[in-house]
Amino acid sequence: MRDVPTTATRDIAPSDRALDHVARFRTFLDTEVAPLEAELHTAGAGTPANPKLDDRGRMHPLVWEARREVQRRSAKAGLYNPHIPAELGGGGFGRVEMQHVEEFVYRESGLGLGLAALAWTEGANPAITHVSDAARGRYLDPLLAGEVTTAFANTEREVGTDVLAMGTRARRDGSDWILDGTKAWITNAHFADFVQVVAVTDPGAGTRSLSMFLVDADAEGFHRGRDIPTMLGDGLTGELHLDGVRVPAENVVGEVGDGFSLAMTWINWRRMCRGGMCAGWGQWLLQRATERARTRESGGRPIGDLQAVQHLLADMDADVFAARSSSLVGQAELDALGPFDIPAHRDLPRIVSLIKIVNDEAFFRVTDRAVQIHGGTGLLLGSPEEKLFRIARNLRIPAGTVEIQRNAIARGLLRP
Ligand SMILES: Cc1cc2nc3c(=O)[nH]c(=O)nc-3n(C[C@H](O)[C@H](O)[C@H](O)COP(=O)(O)OP(=O)(O)OC[C@H]3O[C@@H](n4cnc5c(N)ncnc54)[C@H](O)[C@@H]3O)c2cc1C
Repeated sequence: MRDVPTTATRDIAPSDRALDHVARFRTFLDTEVAPLEAELHTAGAGTPANPKLDDRGRMHPLVWEARREVQRRSAKAGLYNPHIPAELGGGGFGRVEMQHVEEFVYRESGLGLGLAALAWTEGANPAITHVSDAARGRYLDPLLAGEVTTAFANTEREVGTDVLAMGTRARRDGSDWILDGTKAWITNAHFADFVQVVAVTDPGAGTRSLSMFLVDADAEGFHRGRDIPTMLGDGLTGELHLDGVRVPAENVVGEVGDGFSLAMTWINWRRMCRGGMCAGWGQWLLQRATERARTRESGGRPIGDLQAVQHLLADMDADVFAARSSSLVGQAELDALGPFDIPAHRDLPRIVSLIKIVNDEAFFRVTDRAVQIHGGTGLLLGSPEEKLFRIARNLRIPAGTVEIQRNAIARGLLRP
């Protein structure tokens, strides 16, 4: 037996402040989120995971408002922004700390309102931390306070993976910029108060051809487009149209030409977050499957007595264990490299892609087995197993498909 933990064990353990965050989050779920969930339950608007949609296919306004209220309360309780640097008003947590926090939030919230209490794609993110001093008070500070939400608009109808081929253009007009184009598949397109738009500013300049702009949703020429209904059924994904939208120079994030790096910073952040998300949801599904195996009977005995079912449980456990552990090691390596440095460390893309692919693929198998153990009940529309199976299938595409992750891993391996 070892008296002293190995360096690796110390590196991936939760810090005291991460444990404190999680403890406060537990109280927050019980005292602030549970009453809102109970209210929503009686409102007839559906649930956070299975919201009713309005006549345009968008998330029911009551469900959206309940999520927003959770975000405002979370910000007030100091729980909303642990991932943002402390000097900007966040918690300054590293990636290992964040995986522990995210794992807890997903495991304990399941598919409930508590998921909204951490700033995900509609909240503050590592790309917007590069906002100009002039624009900080107008955009970043209200975002951190949960007063407004944002969206990240990179993808277009004709261009997903091949980011540098995008059609949205920004041209100078005096010191302002004029933006034209259409963005598609944008999460929170229907509700965002402002949008982080990536557009071409220097055609043909490769990875320096793009810039990121903060665009107000009430700006002249900015229009919300149709909902894009996906298998998630959440009424959150849609199109955005920019028709000669004027944006002041101070709304450029970082420097002109930084757009590709900033977009990758945002996308890499979502990839890293798969570690905590899949560990948390995976543990939740495993708990539910184990309970089902103990209580559901076949032939007068619990199905958990059957080796066929035991092996399904064991395989779920193995996938959750492997993905969780390897992701924590990956997050520790990212913390050492600087997870959001611009320019990114040359070893970073491979590790980020390893975290995404390991989790996307393991979690898909976990949800598949969870459905199987629940039998017909696992196929019930809107049940946690059925919904998470759909989410797991989805995860293999956004924030870069699993094929693109393989490309990045191989590039890292083959680099001279
Ligand atoms: C629910 C949801 C939410 C989303 N939210 C956002 C958002 O908030 N903001 C945003 O900007 N985008 C968002 N997206 C878009 C998402 O990032 C893209 O769908 C994703 O990057 C894939 O692009 P694509 O759909 O155009 O697929 P394509 O690029 O058309 O890819 C099709 C297939 O070809 C493969 N392929 C393409 N190029 C290569 C290559 N070079 N090497 C190997 N294989 C390749 C892909 O792996 C895939 O299997 C969202 C998408 C979904 C489904």
